[in-house]
Amino acid sequence: MSARHDPNCIFCKIIAGQIPSKKAYEDEELLAFHDINPWAPVHVLIIPKAHIATLYDAQPEDDALLGRMLGLAPRLMRELGVDDGFRTIVNTGPNGGQEVYHLHMHVMGGPRPWKKG
Ligand code: C5P
Repeated sequence: MSARHDPNCIFCKIIAGQIPSKKAYEDEELLAFHDINPWAPVHVLIIPKAHIATLYDAQPEDDALLGRMLGLAPRLMRELGVDDGFRTIVNTGPNGGQEVYHLHMHVMGGPRPWKKG
């Protein structure tokens, strides 16, 4: 299992309050904050507080945590005024376009943020 905290990880620093973020939700296990470089009118990142580098690094015992991340998405979007649809993306590894190696789910919504194709 990967270490649950990485002092060099930017998202671990956000969790610890060492780097500021605009928080949207927080509990013992999860943090959600607004992406600093949004791709959509509403763009939040839902992250586990445990340092899990990628989806590949999640263990079977993390399944409930992964489920909580997904379950939070619609509730949070409704709270943020998005009730007509949103997109979720988890970039994984270099070929998945992952830039920050702390597991995160992009949740994006708002007025017609996406074109198909
Ligand atoms: O999935 P990927 O790793 O490419 O996305 C990382 C995301 O983290 C980017 O959308 C970036 O804007 C966001 N980010 C952030 N706050 C930081 C550093 C990165 O919201 N301090």
